Amino acid sequence: MSDPGIGWLDGDVAFITGAGSGIGQAVALRFLQEGAKGVAILGRDPGRLESTVTAAGTGADRLLPLVGDVRSSADLQAAVDATIGRFGKLDVLVPNAGVWDFNKSISRTTPDEIEAIYDELFDINVKGYLLTVSTAWRALVESHGNIVMTLSNAAFYAAGGGPVYTAAKHATRGLVTQLAYELAPKVRVNGVAIGGLRTDLRGPASTGMSERSIEQSFAKHDDGRGPNLWLPLHHASPDPVDSTGPYVLLASRRNASVITGAVVNADGGIGVRGF
Ligand code: NAD
Repeated sequence: MSDPGIGWLDGDVAFITGAGSGIGQAVALRFLQEGAKGVAILGRDPGRLESTVTAAGTGADRLLPLVGDVRSSADLQAAVDATIGRFGKLDVLVPNAGVWDFNKSISRTTPDEIEAIYDELFDINVKGYLLTVSTAWRALVESHGNIVMTLSNAAFYAAGGGPVYTAAKHATRGLVTQLAYELAPKVRVNGVAIGGLRTDLRGPASTGMSERSIEQSFAKHDDGRGPNLWLPLHHASPDPVDSTGPYVLLASRRNASVITGAVVNADGGIGVRGF
């Protein structure tokens, strides 16, 4: 891990939810490489957070692992307080923790199932983002900081999930727009619409979907005949680290001071076919 003081996030302090795996972990490690003074990583599972700390190597002393659930404002408030207590400020907030609905279509679900998926998924993917911002925005105003939300190809297009996931990701796109408006001029708010990452992304526990991961869904199509073919830039879904660049750009005061309310489509070009 490179020393602080040489990157696009020199001396900045970040707070990332869902950073014990997947894109959240990759962004945390990349922020350290970009010179972040400190990165607080929140997740439900201490073991996962520990894997991020281990992966950080010599940068681990700039990481602050925090166990908590993004559905709990008390957990989030304690985590924001701990971040400021340890590093003195907060510059970059990354609401990212989420679950997926495994493409459960309206025709393959009962009303009861839709309700269960909706309640847990919206609680984590939408309310969780709102609560994360709600507990941290004052610190960001103070630092003239910014927010970079993890969105999805499903924030723009069909077939990145079922109706619940797609609606939730469209909702977070609305959060980018509204919060960019409300928090200007002191806090910038942007999003990265990632897509097709081979991660451990799970489903709502209440519906029994927490035992499966999106990686297992991708693996079913490794013969090349599956949905991976609709990513023009790559046949296989990429490593999360390939998607971290837009987070660094949008988080960087030096490089993105005039960008707010924007979403970077970092999805391998899913939209170029237009159908
Ligand atoms: P992931 O499962 O590796 O990461 C999500 C993390 O969030 C996990 O560590 C999980 O434990 C944590 N988490 C889940 N619920 C939580 C809660 N209630 N409180 C705290 N932490 C919680 O999967 P990922 O693919 O890296 O997903 C991260 C984000 O990326 C999600 O918002 C997801 O919707 C989005 N996304 C993923 C893909 C993809 O193809 N993998 C595509 C588009 C968008």
